[in-house]
Amino acid sequence: MKLLLKGQIAKLQAQHRIYAETELKDLTAVVKLFALNSNWTWYLLTQDPDDPDYLYAIVVGHAIEMGSVSLADLQSQKWLSIPAVERDMHWKPQNALELWNKLNGITVKECGCKSSKDGTVFSPCNTHQEAEAVPA
Ligand SMILES: [Zn+2]
Repeated sequence: MKLLLKGQIAKLQAQHRIYAETELKDLTAVVKLFALNSNWTWYLLTQDPDDPDYLYAIVVGHAIEMGSVSLADLQSQKWLSIPAVERDMHWKPQNALELWNKLNGITVKECGCKSSKDGTVFSPCNTHQEAEAVPA
């Protein structure tokens, strides 16, 4: 299996070009890769056209983090003598920020307040920030 298809490469490299001036909300998680022999998952955001080995991704492994990944490294991982990393063929590209929030259990309310899994608001919107600042 090819890890990356032509169209996906084009999209990843296009996002690499704009990556410096953009934010997570403006990026698409183009490709989802997963390991057969662990619960590691990579949601690819960019690929450097000048160094196609350099991928940037949301990585779900020991933690959920943003980081660079080597394509050659992913391709060379083996499990029982077959390639250990596969592309999820059913993955539909989705907004990188929405994906990041979902993976981290972050809910964004309509007003803009962000709350974590247990419902704690950790990033209030402007309106609620001001309300909290008013002394009781
Ligand atoms: Zn709010």
